[in-house]
Amino acid sequence: MSNYSIGIDLGGTKVLAGIVDADNGQVIDFVKKRTKKAGSESIIQRIIETVEKTLCKAQIPLSEISSIGIGAAGQVDRKNGILISAPNLDCYDVEFKKILEEHFNIPTYVGNDVEVATLGEMKFGSGAGYKNFVCIFVGTGVGSGVVCDGKILKGSTGTAGEIGHIIVSSGGRLCGCGGYGCLEAYASRTAIEKKIIGSLKKGHKSVISEAIKENGIIRSKDIKDALDANDELVFDCITEAAEYLSSGIASVINFYNPELIILGGGLIEAVDLFYEMTVKKSLIKSLAVPASKTQIVKTKLSDFSGAVGAATLYQN
Ligand SMILES: [Zn+2]
Repeated sequence: MSNYSIGIDLGGTKVLAGIVDADNGQVIDFVKKRTKKAGSESIIQRIIETVEKTLCKAQIPLSEISSIGIGAAGQVDRKNGILISAPNLDCYDVEFKKILEEHFNIPTYVGNDVEVATLGEMKFGSGAGYKNFVCIFVGTGVGSGVVCDGKILKGSTGTAGEIGHIIVSSGGRLCGCGGYGCLEAYASRTAIEKKIIGSLKKGHKSVISEAIKENGIIRSKDIKDALDANDELVFDCITEAAEYLSSGIASVINFYNPELIILGGGLIEAVDLFYEMTVKKSLIKSLAVPASKTQIVKTKLSDFSGAVGAATLYQN
């Protein structure tokens, strides 16, 4: 008898729903759709639509699904299953648990996107078998999940692991959180995008201008394509971002002395050069003893860490 659960990864730019065998982490089938800053009503509609499409694609009846888990990019109330605040989606106080339970009549659990992705890697990914490690995801923002003695560290207010807001440049760039000099303002895809667009406005040339004209934004894939074309501006921006990200990771290695750092997220998955530069610089900048024992690897579940982790939320 299979133990199927639906895992939903609700990020800043996409929603991915997967049917997951919660006993072994296998993704049976999935559907991925784009999302935007569209407000609660529209996001809920998008989620329901994506789940229904996934069930239809997999030809698995709802009666075979034992739970639904959702990992949302924002601050959540786990106990009551509420998304408290997700500025990137323009969603506030969304009662996901209540709404989805009413619609599907299946027990529903809510977590934060980074937390569930860390859970996925811990149970079935690169973190399986390790007890002390940190997952760092670089995409729209920079987030991290900390695993301590085999459990996700929540902290006194449930916000532990906010690596995106450690300060890497005192009094530096303004961050989305209202502070200055946060890692996220230097190393996220959004930060790189801002830097590239700023340089283009100053008259610098880059092949990436074409991609911006076409899509309106800079995707991780556009960055990869520009690097493949030996684009100097994009190379400089990526090098700078890797410099800051590695300073953040070196601080984590020195402070926490983990066995493992797992890197994931759109930018890491799509841009090999960024990943390689970050790993190398992080180990050089860390203290010799912890660095000698810390492995830095990529996520094993890549795009599915979040959906797989969300599908196992009911076990926690
Ligand atoms: Zn910040």
